[in-house]
Amino acid sequence: MKIIDAHLHFSNRPGFRETAKNISQVEFSAKGLKQEFAQAGIVAGIIMSIPSGDLPIGYPEEFTHEDGTVECLYSCVGVNPVRLKENPGEELSYIESELKKSKVLGIKLYPGYFPYYVYDSLYEPVYELARRYGVPVAIHCGDTQSPKGLLKYSHPLTIDELAVKHEDITFVICHLGIPWVIDGAVVVAKNANVFADLSGLLAGNKEHILKMRNNILYKQYIQQALVLTNRYDKFLYGSDWPLVPMVDYVAFVKELIPEGHYDEVFYKNALKVYSKLQDNL
Ligand SMILES: [Zn+2]
Repeated sequence: MKIIDAHLHFSNRPGFRETAKNISQVEFSAKGLKQEFAQAGIVAGIIMSIPSGDLPIGYPEEFTHEDGTVECLYSCVGVNPVRLKENPGEELSYIESELKKSKVLGIKLYPGYFPYYVYDSLYEPVYELARRYGVPVAIHCGDTQSPKGLLKYSHPLTIDELAVKHEDITFVICHLGIPWVIDGAVVVAKNANVFADLSGLLAGNKEHILKMRNNILYKQYIQQALVLTNRYDKFLYGSDWPLVPMVDYVAFVKELIPEGHYDEVFYKNALKVYSKLQDNL
């Protein structure tokens, strides 16, 4: 089965390295990523880039061909609303320069980590870019990894107002808004322009994922949201690697989805949402 991982991370931010070491025990390197892609049958991965102005990000060297093209790795450009406020020209030209690249498939916002609602007028020029370049906007929703995050900004219900305001832009609720998965799924079902990725529903190593695969209550908690809306044409597989080992997370998500919808959830829906992928794959 061909799989697109529509949500993973690969940056030099120390937090990811620590997560890999202490929580998931994956090898956080280009070699490790490549191996996990092969084991799990991942044919393309979309890196959610951290906000600009942070530590440098880049594609792992081992994925880069001599002509500079990168094999099977794509990205969404991360937005820093603080810079957008302080120096809008610079931040917007950075975002636009990224969007001109064929491997940059969309835009990523981090509400909760930053104290701004997604419908704040501050973000309007970013949505204008999304519209102009015809790319989706992926939005962190749900719990934050940092205790300093503010959850009222990252609740999935906030996407409803945004989606109604910008009917011509596609939005992706990342992590289905966990733990508010029913709220996330309802926003997906209600709005034609909203999708959700199933990344980050768990974080941990092989043993932890196995334990949670056997935890009926936890699985049912997620499945309730999926069954309630029955919109398997709108959910995308994603891992949030390095938070989880890929093979194990694929196995977990498979158990949440009816087999007849694997092709959509694990592959086709990502091509539909991140449509620039169609030119690359
Ligand atoms: Zn993530």
